[in-house]
Amino acid sequence: MGILDDVVINAKSAAEAVGKKAGQIMDVSKLRINAAELNSEISKRYQALGQYVYESCREQLAGDGEVVGKMAEIDELAAQYAAVSKELGDKQNKVTCPGCGRQCSSSEAYCGTCGAKLGE
Ligand SMILES: [Zn+2]
Repeated sequence: MGILDDVVINAKSAAEAVGKKAGQIMDVSKLRINAAELNSEISKRYQALGQYVYESCREQLAGDGEVVGKMAEIDELAAQYAAVSKELGDKQNKVTCPGCGRQCSSSEAYCGTCGAKLGE
């Protein structure tokens, strides 16, 4: 083999090594993305489960102090959210629909989404 052959072979094996390394990096990137997506999906399911329990199982869980405390925290945050939403709506001449929660113009008499009477 001549020097040129050695150079070609070395360049080829170097390229293969780089390709292999890049492949490993891609595998790690894909795995990270996959892990992040799964973790996000788990969080969504926890949230959905929590909302279901909050809305459907209040009475059954009334004896569990920790659950009751966490529900009270959500109630407090929901009250703060309603107050902030109302203040924001007032500043933007909007009213919150009592039926569906949509922000409607204060000039509208009825909600365009659910038809509930506004401004009461
Ligand atoms: Zn509505």
